[in-house]
Amino acid sequence: MGGDIIYNRRKSRVVRVGGVLVGGDNPIVVESMTSTDTRDANATAEQIKRLTQAGCEIVRLAVPDEAAARAFGDVKKRISIPLIADIHFDYKLALLALENGADKLRINPGNIGGEGRVSQLAAAAKGRGVPIRVGVNAGSLERDIFNKYGGITAKGMAESALNHVQMLERCGFEDIVVGMKANSIPLTIAAHQLIVEKIPYPLHIGITEAGLGLAGMVKSAAGLAGLLTRGWGDTLRVSLTGDPVAEVTLARELLQSLNLRHFKPEIVSCPTCGRCRVDLEKIANEVEKHLQKIEKYVKVAVMGCEVNGPGEARDADVGLACGSGAGLIFRNGEVIRKVSEDEMVAKFMEEIYIFLEDSDGKSVV
Ligand code: SF4
Repeated sequence: MGGDIIYNRRKSRVVRVGGVLVGGDNPIVVESMTSTDTRDANATAEQIKRLTQAGCEIVRLAVPDEAAARAFGDVKKRISIPLIADIHFDYKLALLALENGADKLRINPGNIGGEGRVSQLAAAAKGRGVPIRVGVNAGSLERDIFNKYGGITAKGMAESALNHVQMLERCGFEDIVVGMKANSIPLTIAAHQLIVEKIPYPLHIGITEAGLGLAGMVKSAAGLAGLLTRGWGDTLRVSLTGDPVAEVTLARELLQSLNLRHFKPEIVSCPTCGRCRVDLEKIANEVEKHLQKIEKYVKVAVMGCEVNGPGEARDADVGLACGSGAGLIFRNGEVIRKVSEDEMVAKFMEEIYIFLEDSDGKSVV
């Protein structure tokens, strides 16, 4: 209901990463990266299991040496989501990661070597049906491009990405994903602007090195929203310092808040003001606590008074508009019940469960 805006998503080819399809009309994929030492296969597999539980759909592992490339194979056997090998400097590690079951390679054009090496990689990846992400990072642009533009620029990032896409194409390889990341939002958006019309491949997006805590989350969300609302992005990673599970949680919240994917119930609740005559914060928190057990999408409104309450409650699947010590419950825009404050949460939840059951015939409690 309501005036939901559908973003005009950029059309891209579809690339298969293990069992996950990236690009085209497929859902935007939530990706993360392990922070464990890849050589410690136990710790890495454990972290991936936690990430998977949180909703991560593809995970990337740093492969800095041969031991890590071999451990990659051990990890692969213990987990259920596709694994990406992240390779810098040494193309032979990419070959080894492929032998150890990599579902995708991420190479950095700035440091992987010349066309001869890239062509060997392309041949090996093609033989296994494994895509390659050209991952440009502002912090490691090739020296000649850096010098040509006098520093890190959007033009330089775009040129680096396009050069390496063309290099792969010359090798007859088109199973490509492209990513360009910087820690500056305007720079990231400007760089994408320069390539989105020029290539048909899916985009991996992110604001790299976004930082710590709240500031990192806000920066990631602001940058990713800037890209996604322009229709750009087929797989995304939030980069935060700390436990990567937080990256996955934020990525899912972000996609849901933009109405691009739905993972769980959505709660619309008002900030309250001097007009509110019930303890709305308590009511909203209790409703949220109950809804945490539900994995289906339903739009729920919990509103403090008759100013905006009825409008928002009508717009939700199930809504509650409070008045003085009582409230009206709406379902699909119609008032279905009047409830007193002391029974409000219980009756409201009852109606939400009935709504969910009616919508797919399955009980959620
Ligand atoms: Fe205030 Fe009512 Fe708006 Fe809530 S819905 S913020 S109580 S005016």
